[in-house]
Amino acid sequence: MKLNIVVPCYNEEAVLQETTKQLSALIDSLVEKGKIKACDIVYVDDGSQDNTWTLIEQLQTANKYVHGLKLAHNVGHQNALWAGMEWSDGKCDAMVSIDADLQHDIRKIEDMVDAYHKGFEVVYGIRNSRKTDSAFKKRTALGFYNLMRKMGVDIIPNHADFRLLGSKALHALMQYPERNMFLRGMVRLIGFPSVEVYFDVHERFAGESKYTLSKMINFAADGITSFSVQPLRIISVIGMLCVLLSFVEIVYILIAWIMGSVVAGWSSLLFSVWFLGGLLLLSVGIIGEYIGKIYKEVKQRPRYIIEKNI
Ligand code: UDP
Ligand code: MG
Repeated sequence: MKLNIVVPCYNEEAVLQETTKQLSALIDSLVEKGKIKACDIVYVDDGSQDNTWTLIEQLQTANKYVHGLKLAHNVGHQNALWAGMEWSDGKCDAMVSIDADLQHDIRKIEDMVDAYHKGFEVVYGIRNSRKTDSAFKKRTALGFYNLMRKMGVDIIPNHADFRLLGSKALHALMQYPERNMFLRGMVRLIGFPSVEVYFDVHERFAGESKYTLSKMINFAADGITSFSVQPLRIISVIGMLCVLLSFVEIVYILIAWIMGSVVAGWSSLLFSVWFLGGLLLLSVGIIGEYIGKIYKEVKQRPRYIIEKNI
């Protein structure tokens, strides 16, 4: 069996040497045990500004497993991963996606390969705990998964983009044309027999997290709006409640008019102006979010552009 390991890299010069060392050792042992026949490590340089690409070029000449794709500019983790997956489609029997920073336990790749041999097309890597994450990251991540599930998105909690896909699952996934990608949700859609593998999260080997707060917020917003129309429905519900409320208010206004006290009440008026104005703006904003998505989808722009391929 031929395995591909896809690793998106954005400014990862500090870790790639070590990652390559550990992955090569793992591949050697898997080949020795007869679990795989061959393996490519596919580093996808996601438009790094540091020496990541030069390092990949060096690793490629020095190491027989390493293969490099250089994207023309930074397209984000999900798209970079897609570039590596699309390149692997048809070239391997299974592919594993993993972060460059050694936070995902690479030894679990062996368990994933075992599961593949047992007939599973999709193997999810699930974090055991979030010990190494900051309290902030932990809370935001858990909040995110809860929100996603409330919004009706079928998502496996604590599953990062560490997973094995068999060639059939990979090929099926590549048929999804959408540009707003949320791979964790999309993999659930394709079906196939799947199993979970648990791993402990390590500290980042070196360098800093490339997921800034704004990238995290974008990721969460993309996840929700590309998988759920719940926010649109919430708008309708709020609108209906407002209408019902205004009926109650009409009764109140009529009574006040009959009693002859109509001048008072500017405060409630002012309140409703602001409240409804805010509500309208918010609603328009959410609708705009979806229209933005449609706009992006209809353009069907390429997800990434490969500059070099070694
Ligand atoms: N990454 C990428 N493009 C980006 C941001 C991140 O390819 O724009 C890669 C990064 O190099 C790493 C993986 O995505 O291999 C996960 O990023 P990171 O470890 O910084 O995220 P965290 O673990 O902090 O969530
Ligand atoms: Mg990381």
